[in-house]
Formats: sequence, C-alpha cells, structure tokens
Amino acid sequence: MAVAQSVVEARNYVGGRWVAASTEETFEDRSPADTRQLLGVVPRSSATDVEAAARAARQAYPEWRRWSRIKRAEVLDEFVQLVKRDKEELARLMAVECGKAINEARADVVEGIHTAQYWFGRARMASGEVLASEIADKESYVLHKPKGVVAAITPWNFPFAIPMWLICPSLVEGNTVVFKPAEETPLTGQRIVEYMEKAGLPAGVLDLVHGFGEEVGWPLVTHPEVDVVLFTGSAQVGSMIKEACARDYHKFCVCEMGGKNAMIVFDDADFDLAVNAAVISAFKTTGQRCVSAERLIVQQGILERFTRAFVERARRIRIGHPLNEDTFMGPLVSEAGLNKVLGYNRLAREEGAQVLLDGGRLEDGEERYGYYVRPFVYTMPHRSDSRVLREEVFGPHVAIVPFKTIEDAIAIHNDCEYGFALSVCSRDYRKIRAIREECEFGVGYVNLPTIGAEVHLPFGGLKKSGTGMPSAAALQEAVTHRVTFTINHGQEIKMAQGLQTQVEALES
Ligand code: NAD
Repeated sequence: MAVAQSVVEARNYVGGRWVAASTEETFEDRSPADTRQLLGVVPRSSATDVEAAARAARQAYPEWRRWSRIKRAEVLDEFVQLVKRDKEELARLMAVECGKAINEARADVVEGIHTAQYWFGRARMASGEVLASEIADKESYVLHKPKGVVAAITPWNFPFAIPMWLICPSLVEGNTVVFKPAEETPLTGQRIVEYMEKAGLPAGVLDLVHGFGEEVGWPLVTHPEVDVVLFTGSAQVGSMIKEACARDYHKFCVCEMGGKNAMIVFDDADFDLAVNAAVISAFKTTGQRCVSAERLIVQQGILERFTRAFVERARRIRIGHPLNEDTFMGPLVSEAGLNKVLGYNRLAREEGAQVLLDGGRLEDGEERYGYYVRPFVYTMPHRSDSRVLREEVFGPHVAIVPFKTIEDAIAIHNDCEYGFALSVCSRDYRKIRAIREECEFGVGYVNLPTIGAEVHLPFGGLKKSGTGMPSAAALQEAVTHRVTFTINHGQEIKMAQGLQTQVEALES
C-alpha cells in the first residue's frame, strides 16, 4: 500500500525561526512500511546548530521563568485543542513514519494529549512544602525553581508521547528546552514544536534540532549551556550520557532505557487470559516497546499446553501495512532494526534454542518494500551465559523459559541486567505477592500484559533500565532545584539547636 503524501521539507526551529541546518545538508525520512515512500527531507544538523539552539534557549529562559506557572501551563491547554483537531492525521503520519499499527499510533497521540492535560492541571496544584521551624517566629518553605536549559533527547518508538513526557514538565516548571527527536521520526517530532508555536509559546522557549545521535545528540549533551539532560533510549547511549553528565559539575541527567521484560505464568493462571496477555506483551508494536516481553517464564505443569496455544496465536497474527485497521504487527522501524532482530534470531539457534516459530522476513508482495518480519518463538532452559535470554532484541523475538518452583521463577527473572516491566499470571495472591517482593522491576502487572502505561503512574525501571524517574513527580524534581527559604516574623534573631547569637554583648 503506497500512500500518497506530499514530501515535507523539515526545518530546525531556533529562537522562533524555522531554519535549515548550518551544514545545508539533509537526510531522507522514508517509511519503514514501504521504503519507496519518501515522507520528508530533514536537516542534517551539526554542533553549530546545537550551539545556536542552546543559546536561543538560554536567552529565552529569564523571561519564561518569570511567567506564572499557571500561565505557562495554559500554553499546553491551547496545544491540546490544536492536536485534538488533527488527531487522526497525526496518527496516520506517525504510523507511516515509524511503522506502528494505526490503532497504536492513535493511542500514542492520546498519551501525548493526556500528558499535556496532566501538566496543565498540575500547574494549579500545590508545588513545594511549608515546614515547621524549631523557632515559633520562623516559617520555612521548600520551593521548586527551574534549573535552566533542558535537553530532551528521545527515541522513535513513541515519537509523540515520549517527547511530551519530557517537554511538558520542563516547560511548566519554567525551563526552556532544546528538543532532539529521533532521526527515524523527525516529522512527528517537528509537529510537536509546530503546535507549541501555534499555541503561543514565546520564541526560544522550545527549540528543535534535527539530526543524528553523534552529530546533534552528543554536542547537546555536552553543551555547557545545558543544565539538564532528559534522555529516553537505549542503555548503551544512556550510560555514555550518564558518564558525560557526571564529569560536568552542574549537569543533571535522567536516563530511561531498555528492558528484557518477562511474564511469569504459573500453573494456576487463567489460561486464555495468560496466553492473550503474552501475545500482547510480545508482539504489540512489533515487540518494539521498552516494556515488550521477550521472556515468557512458564511453570512446568502448563508448559506444553501454553506453548502450543501461544505459538498457534502468534502464527495467526496479521502482519501488514500500519494503516490497515486489522494489522496487528507493522514493520520494524529500519534496516538496522531488521538486521538486529534477524541476528538475534540466528544467535538463538547458535545458543541451542528449540525454534517453534521462525521469524523470517516477509519477502513477497507489497511487504517486500518494508521491514516486515514474522514472530520468532523459541524455547530454551534458562542459562546465565546466554546472550539471547539477557540482551534486549527490540522485535518480535520471544523465549519460553520453563520453571519448576516459585524460587526458580524469581531467580530466572532476576538473572538479567535489566529490570523494567514484569507481569505475573496467577490466581494465588501469595505467589503474586512473593513475585512483587522478590523480583527486580519498576512496572508490575498482575493478570495483564507487560505493556499498558498511563501518564499519571510512575514508569521506569531499575538496573540497566534506568532510574525510575519519568513519573510526573520525579520529573518535577529532575528539572527543578529544591530551594529552602526561611522567613523570620519576629523582632529578633533566634537560632535553632539552641545556638547563642551572642550579639547583645556587641551592641553596648
Ligand atoms: P537510541 O538510544 O539509539 O536513540 C535514542 C535517542 O538518542 C535518539 O534521538 C538518538 O539520535 C539519540 N542518540 C543516539 N546516540 C547518541 C549519542 N551518542 N549522544 C546523544 N544522543 C544520542 O534508541 P532508539 O533506537 O531510538 O530507541 C529504542 C530504545 O529506547 C530501546 O532500548 C528501548 O527500550 C528504549 N526505550 C526506553 C523507554 C523508557 O521509558 N525507558 C521508552 C521507549 C524506548
């Protein structure tokens, strides 16, 4: 299905002006669903463009910071009205740009809207605290003050919702932002900035620089004008960013990264619910969610029946163009993504997996123009030295790993460098509780898939997955300083801890 659409000439947005990259170079944005479809021509920016954007953001900061918190948030209300009007068109752009099925693209837009609505509402809620003092005449407040210029560096798989998670709290709290969207989804990223401009955001408050990780992302991370780096993406890039920020005395970063998520299915689970939850966990978004399950840890008693049913349902998954309403799995995002998944499929065989469903590429029909693969399902006993059981694949590649006792399930689950999403399927609250207490994860579900975030719930992981910071409350902390401010309502200076001022003797 080649979809007619005019080619967008994307631009950077710096200090309120839409501009080409200083390099005057561009790169092509093609649909992974059909690479014959050119969607946009995008500025291939460099450190020079980052410099201009960071300077514009710094310049806009003092004035933006002085706006009332509520006034700042009102821009988001305006933004929401504009996005709602274009919701379907935006979802369709996203579906062809990153390949996610249209119903998922719609949900991504809705998640972005919810985030803006959440921060719009939150602006009128209490922020900070009033604390008692040892001295009756004193009052202490804790205030949140903005940190300055925030860099928002985002992945392609939620190209609308994730930038909104990072941009909204930054703006409402009074920071200015330089936004670098993923190079796979520049047009969806640009739309956020276009709506913000129309919604009345002053020039320079949100700047946009398109381009690649090393050429734009890294100069942004290391730029001296940037005070906070909010990054969502792979663990490999996240750890480099953490290291760079640690070297810079004033720079704070939040890095939310990948997962090797698992679903634990006990013998007593509601069978159909568990199988369906596993299918959704493994294959929605073609397995390209940070919370997708790549490990199904299944108890011996139902292993055979579960495996048969799961493979059967996985075989029936409809793979196709993301704009078809009945498509369950669209393509992988890129040729690099495709090669990575096929490489891990090969590695599973090399590591001795028993392959139950072979996830080859779709080579016929219209699908041959995109990066479409079938689900890859295998079974393999847990091994600590296995790479396929421990590394994030980011595709429809899933292992069924048997276990006997609950202790085994916990040990298998935790023998992994990541700790993001976990689902447990059981009817026994004691087992559910033991899993909750003993497993290392950030987002847990019971009798549900491993996917299903809502914007007001904390979302993040442990270990290589991140810091668990991108919950609303935590992000407020990330983009603000806590300032303690104490006022004396009395006529004389009284100190805490019984400290004597000894100033009387000096007065006479
Ligand atoms: P990625 O790490 O390759 O890229 C993410 C962003 O970082 C992109 O904008 C990219 O251009 C930029 N980048 C790349 N190299 C850089 C560098 N050296 N310096 C600065 N910036 C650089 O990730 P991706 O392929 O876009 O996204 C997939 C990954 O994101 C997966 O690992 C997935 O699990 C993770 N993810 C995590 C969450 C979460 O909430 N924790 C959500 C979605 C995706």
